[in-house]
Amino acid sequence: MTATTVEPSGARPRQTNYWRVRNGRTREPIESAPRTWHIRPGHPGGEYSDLGHELDPPEHHTPTLLTRSRRTGRREEEEFRGGCLACDWEGAVHRGDGYGDGDNEAVEDAHDHAFPGWRELPPLTTVEDRWALPRDRGRWTQLISRYPPGWPDRGAPLVAWSRHRREAHAPPHRGRPRYELHVARPPAGPRPRTVDQETLF
Ligand SMILES: [Zn+2]
Repeated sequence: MTATTVEPSGARPRQTNYWRVRNGRTREPIESAPRTWHIRPGHPGGEYSDLGHELDPPEHHTPTLLTRSRRTGRREEEEFRGGCLACDWEGAVHRGDGYGDGDNEAVEDAHDHAFPGWRELPPLTTVEDRWALPRDRGRWTQLISRYPPGWPDRGAPLVAWSRHRREAHAPPHRGRPRYELHVARPPAGPRPRTVDQETLF
C-alpha cells in the first residue's frame, strides 16, 4: 500500500510524515499509519504534531527510536531502527517484540551514532543506584566527571547492569534527559578497564 510512496528519511521528517498520514493529509490510507516509520511514543521527539518536527532540531546528535509494524504472512511484526533528532541518520532495521528485543538494538545503534564509545561509560551496578545515584549530588558529580567533556549536558546515557536478559532500555523522561541503557553484567573474573569502575564503587 505504501510501496508507491517514498517516505522521507530522518526521524523528524518521518514523524511529521507519520502524523500527516494519520490525520489523512496524504493520499495514503489512514490505517497505514502504523506501518509508516515514526518515533515510538515515549521516546524523544515522539510527541504529537503534524506541523513539522524539523522546525527546531537540537544542536547535537540526539538518539531516539523509530518503529513501524509490518505484515508478514498473517502476523503483524514490529520493526525498529535508531534515529537522531538532529540529523537524518538512521540505523539498521531490527525486528523483535519491542520489549528489549529489537528496540534495544536500535536504541544502542542510535547511541553509537550520538555517543560513540558509550559502552565504556561507568555503569551503575545495582538497581538501587539507578534511583539513588542521580539524586545524590556528590556521587552523581563523581560519576559524570568520568564522562567525556560535554557529554552529560548533551544527554549522554546512564549505563546500568541489566536485571535480567533483554531488560528494555528506558527512554528519557521529565527530570532525566537521558536514556538509561541496560547492559549485560560482565562475567566474573579479570577483565580490562576495571580500574575505572573500582574508583567509583
Ligand atoms: Zn545525528
